Amino acid sequence: MRDMIDVLIVGGGGAGLRAAVAVAESDPALQVAVVSKVYPMRSHTVSAEGGAAAVIGIGDTLDEHCYDTISGGDWLCDQDAVEAFVAEAPRELIQLEHWGCPWSRERDGRVAVRPFGGMKKMRTWYAADKTGFHLLHTLFQTTLKYQDIIRYDEWYVTKLVVDDGRVHGVVAVEIRTGRVETIPARTVILATGGCGRAFPFTTNASIKTGDGMALAYREGAPLKDMEFVQYHPTGLPFTGILITEAARAEGGWLINKDGYRYLQDYDLGAPTPEPTLRSMELGPRDRLSQAFVHEQRRGRTADTPYGPVVYLDLRHLGEEKIEHRIPFVRELCRSYQNLDPVTDLIPVRPVVHYMMGGVHTDLDGATTVAGLYAAGETACVSINGANRLGSNSLPEILVFGRRAGIAAAEFARSHREAEPAAVRSQGEDERRRLTRAREGGGNGGRIADLREEMQHTLEGAAGIYRSGDVLTKAADTLAGLRERAEEARVDDGSTAFNTELINLLELHAMLEVAQTIVACALNRRESRGAHQRTDHTARDDDAYLAHSLVHRAPDGTPSVGLLPVTITRWAPGERVYGRD
Ligand SMILES: Cc1cc2nc3c(=O)[nH]c(=O)nc-3n(C[C@H](O)[C@H](O)[C@H](O)COP(=O)(O)OP(=O)(O)OC[C@H]3O[C@@H](n4cnc5c(N)ncnc54)[C@H](O)[C@@H]3O)c2cc1C
Repeated sequence: MRDMIDVLIVGGGGAGLRAAVAVAESDPALQVAVVSKVYPMRSHTVSAEGGAAAVIGIGDTLDEHCYDTISGGDWLCDQDAVEAFVAEAPRELIQLEHWGCPWSRERDGRVAVRPFGGMKKMRTWYAADKTGFHLLHTLFQTTLKYQDIIRYDEWYVTKLVVDDGRVHGVVAVEIRTGRVETIPARTVILATGGCGRAFPFTTNASIKTGDGMALAYREGAPLKDMEFVQYHPTGLPFTGILITEAARAEGGWLINKDGYRYLQDYDLGAPTPEPTLRSMELGPRDRLSQAFVHEQRRGRTADTPYGPVVYLDLRHLGEEKIEHRIPFVRELCRSYQNLDPVTDLIPVRPVVHYMMGGVHTDLDGATTVAGLYAAGETACVSINGANRLGSNSLPEILVFGRRAGIAAAEFARSHREAEPAAVRSQGEDERRRLTRAREGGGNGGRIADLREEMQHTLEGAAGIYRSGDVLTKAADTLAGLRERAEEARVDDGSTAFNTELINLLELHAMLEVAQTIVACALNRRESRGAHQRTDHTARDDDAYLAHSLVHRAPDGTPSVGLLPVTITRWAPGERVYGRD
């Protein structure tokens, strides 16, 4: 067992590293540790392409960024959180510049911005189309300045130690050796990212398995708005690799199998007399993904071995612009689709991309468990409501990573009690459980089979369109899968790099999270943003202008309630796009 850590951060992505720097800066005397199941630079943040939104230019205002975010989220965002986010985002991006992030520039030297879906003003900063790489690299380098930050690279956290409503540390496995350790801590920040891997077709890295959501949920912290799963309209078929929205921001078109820009046939808000990029290709992601389903029903998508597709057409942009502004798109198309967007159409289809929901927190990342914080994609503050706008997530992980870091540091300074006996006893129980899982040789089936069944159940029930009867069936299937997964077979009995055991623990987390997604979707009998019910097609503000809050009942099943949305200045209205 180690000495007590003041702030232990689970996650070495953008949210986790930003939190680590915030703690180190706020009080150098505090002991900070970052635990990550992959080397920090391999976190999913590294793959973000398009950019990060923050008001910068003349002619834009904080209120407009707030309004776009709130209306884009179909009025389910907490407006106090959005106001704090929008106000602090510019400072965070400038701070990143000072730490060395190479933002792309205009010819006159100003930071360049590009348009993005659902944003009515140009406010998306970018570093070509490798924004996440540069952002994470900058943060990682900055953490290296603070020699005292302890790193547990390639350690997998299996459990939070919670006693009497207060967190006291974590239990983690060193993947290289299989050593299980209890790490006592005064505060824990979960920065574990999303859970796209619970679905079969996703842009998410294979590490995005909802671990942090499950860790918090099991210890009594509720999850919020789990039914809101974002489909991005343009993933490469088969691999699910993302073709960034920046490709459409730079002027790309979406066309169907007849070469027709089909989005002009869909009501993405209030169309202008002349269809424009902003009223079509740069509409919000939920509506674009829904339009794809309708095109498919009309027989206007093309069939491929990997499902129906439409096409992203960049040919009219020309080689120079593609090379200069979106070189990574070209690189991905060449490597993974064997085509060149300068001369060829890119086949695309909607793909699971982002979780709007997550661990319920306040504006400083505090959960309902004392000393436990959450930030980044694993948290739901909430600024994304029913549909996140592209390029709001990168500034979100910075703003709320920093806030959580400062709040946790303050908590750690003011709570210096001795460690309770529960730390040791829970650690020993967890070690026994993990040994049993590794050596048990259960008979509940193979991990890969169970995972696949879960993924297809979720896609069938909680995809772009949902209905009550399918969701009800899915809830039963998932409950059965969870029981079977408890007994899943682990063939690898070794301790070194036992990735099979890690896969099992990830499956347990995803199943837990999948159950909450289905339960929340079932409970919300309306259509809003990314949650579209074919049996309740209208938005119903009287009943559901509220967050879903899901607790784990003592028997392990999800129990869903509602929590009012915070409205400050923007009364609920229609979502209107198309105005320039
Ligand atoms: C392909 C792609 C492109 C994107 N492009 C953009 C964009 O252009 N603009 C934008 O705003 N957003 C974009 N997003 C969304 C955005 O990148 C993510 O939401 C954000 O980076 C998440 O950051 P995070 O720090 O919360 O989590 P992550 O970066 O996912 O990091 C999670 C960390 O948690 C650790 N972890 C998880 N579980 C455990 C465990 N059990 N034990 C130990 N460690 C654990 C992992 O090792 C990792 O270090 C994109 C997302 C994808 C997938």
